[in-house]
Amino acid sequence: MVETRIERIKSQLHSQKYKLTPQREATVRVLLENEKDHLSAEDVYLLVKDKAPEIGLATVYRTLELLTELKVVDKINFGDGVSRYDLRQEGATHFHHHLVCIECGAVDEIQEDLLGDVEKIVEKRWQFLIKDHRLTFHGICHRCQDKD
Ligand SMILES: [Zn+2]
Ligand SMILES: [Zn+2]
Repeated sequence: MVETRIERIKSQLHSQKYKLTPQREATVRVLLENEKDHLSAEDVYLLVKDKAPEIGLATVYRTLELLTELKVVDKINFGDGVSRYDLRQEGATHFHHHLVCIECGAVDEIQEDLLGDVEKIVEKRWQFLIKDHRLTFHGICHRCQDKD
């Protein structure tokens, strides 16, 4: 699974004239292996360092910026001032939605795109051609609700 996705990301980079260098590959691997997490650049750096000890934080930053530009990952911010990197689902045209728990900080994902109708209204009423969207719900997750 991880290997096929790496291959696909590799050809995606090649088609844009970029190479998947060993450092870039180590970074992509960390993102794939921690797909459910929303890692900051520092988090990614610490995990990549285990695989490629010679790598520097600046290289990890540049790789994350490149992957963001190529739409392999999305850069998100949940309002805590920290940029996080999130792998885009393969074939997804829109960014998945997030549920952020204000009690435990857990971040859950909604892969299904629930905004189709909303987009139609916006496109029509504001004559705005939508390319993507971000949707984050802030609230209390089911685990925290069960605690009470
Ligand atoms: Zn996510
Ligand atoms: Zn919670």
